[in-house]
Amino acid sequence: MRRNALGILIVFVLLATLPHPARCAELSPPLSPDAALDLAVLRAAYPGVVQGLERNPAGHLELVLTSGQRLMYDDGRTDAGRQDAGLPAAVSAEAKKTDGIKQDLATPDLRTMLAQVYPLGPVDEASANPKPGFDPGRSRVQALFLALYGHSEAEVRAHCAKVRFDRRTLPFNTRFGAAPALERVWKRIEAQLPQHPEFLPVLRPLGETLVWRVIAGTKRLSMHSFGIALDVNPDLPYWRWEKHPETMPAQCKAFPPEILAAFEAEGFIWGGKWASFDLMHFEYRPEIILKACVLAGQVKLP
Ligand SMILES: [Zn+2]
Repeated sequence: MRRNALGILIVFVLLATLPHPARCAELSPPLSPDAALDLAVLRAAYPGVVQGLERNPAGHLELVLTSGQRLMYDDGRTDAGRQDAGLPAAVSAEAKKTDGIKQDLATPDLRTMLAQVYPLGPVDEASANPKPGFDPGRSRVQALFLALYGHSEAEVRAHCAKVRFDRRTLPFNTRFGAAPALERVWKRIEAQLPQHPEFLPVLRPLGETLVWRVIAGTKRLSMHSFGIALDVNPDLPYWRWEKHPETMPAQCKAFPPEILAAFEAEGFIWGGKWASFDLMHFEYRPEIILKACVLAGQVKLP
């Protein structure tokens, strides 16, 4: 899996070396290593989209897209400040702890979106027991995904192609290599299926890919809206309605590691590695996987 993952990542790296306007040359003070890495992984994962990082008049770093659109990279707020911002005084301490309220109010910047490092590889003791709030990849800057994959259901659908996955053909976004990546995931799984009958209850009945909808309990668009997420068997546990969350570490460890490896090798993250667990959910997030690979020393970016 690692060799194949590296193959994909080498493609990212090659794409990242394509010429781009050096718009961040005049930054003062210069970029921190963290910001430089985030910029590099975004460029590599989404070639042609990112122009650079620039400071706005208030001194905050913004990501400038080649379209001219600017997205906040670092709004200067701490994560704790961001989570609490705007909470009405009447909200009880208990309610503040509930993820729905936090997430509704959360307006992450790109730095926050990329801050938690996704744990690559088979589920181990640590990744089976994520600390509360450890949900790498789950906090998303919606404006980025609208810019990447389409601003409306019609625009997203126009970018989608049918991909064969098990006994279905499912619409998936063709932008930034998402649909071909899902196609390769299935080929990896299919090749192992005869030896692994335990894959079937995970894969069947298969859930959906493209559904233009908000995340349950929030006003934010699900990544399914963009045609870049696939739910395997929708009966797998989801944090919002799971009656026995204490069984999650064991259930995550029991999830077929071959299926997990097939997705991660192609740039997908798994919701089973989130404290707010979503075991059916895989999502194409090459920037998250690439950042994890760079930090693990598996790949170097220019
Ligand atoms: Zn999902």
